[in-house]
Amino acid sequence: MKLRILLLLLPLFAVGCATVDPVTGRRVNNLYSIDDDIQMGREVLGEVVKTMREGKVPINRDGKKVAKLQEMVNRIAAVSHLPDLPYEIYLFETNIVNAFAAPGGQMGVFSGLYHPEMGLVQDDDELAAVIAHEIAHVTCRHTTESLTRELPVRLALIGGALYAEARGNDDLALALGAGFLVYEGLILPRYSRRDETEADAVGLMYMAKAGYDPRAAVRLWERAAARSKDPKLFALFSSHPTDRQRAEALRKLLPQAMEEYERAKAVRAP
Ligand SMILES: [Zn+2]
Repeated sequence: MKLRILLLLLPLFAVGCATVDPVTGRRVNNLYSIDDDIQMGREVLGEVVKTMREGKVPINRDGKKVAKLQEMVNRIAAVSHLPDLPYEIYLFETNIVNAFAAPGGQMGVFSGLYHPEMGLVQDDDELAAVIAHEIAHVTCRHTTESLTRELPVRLALIGGALYAEARGNDDLALALGAGFLVYEGLILPRYSRRDETEADAVGLMYMAKAGYDPRAAVRLWERAAARSKDPKLFALFSSHPTDRQRAEALRKLLPQAMEEYERAKAVRAP
């Protein structure tokens, strides 16, 4: 782990940390600036990329797919609350069924997400639902809000992560595990239930405004619920709200999202 990442975890100013959330307009505690988000996201992605390379995981092998993902990201980010962040997406060729966002706009998709049999996403609208959800985590600044809340716990975890790294193993599974320790356990905390629910709701409106059919989000979570026993879906779908609850919550927001979608479609029509 790079020292700079550790330093990022220690905000210099612990006072006057109430800021206004760019999405909800609520006053929230966040010790980090947007620039901190961006810098931290780049550091984290650098670590993830390094870990993947060490594990011989191909990155961005399919230029066409990456370009398509980036286009989708740009289109959704453009209608988000923070359109000017340096949004960038990486495609990791592994059978992991997942996607993630680091703070500040750096994102990753694992190709397992759209594997024909093992994957979950079956069309572009569904892929857009996943990406819009991740972008919502970024614009809601869930990572640094949560780091702010959990700073004391985090400091204790740093020791554990350094120990894991110091053992230095070259086994792929362990290397990936370490990568996820960095990603999920240490640098990027698991999102809370409230954060997930917020990202679902905010992401639904983003995808609709960008002209992707929001019904795809409901479909996606319903499919996830039907397959909830599948261990491959663990990472993306093990978060606190159950998949069925997520689908139901999204369904309630669907009428509003459909209005946005129809409006966006009318604008985009040739
Ligand atoms: Zn999420």
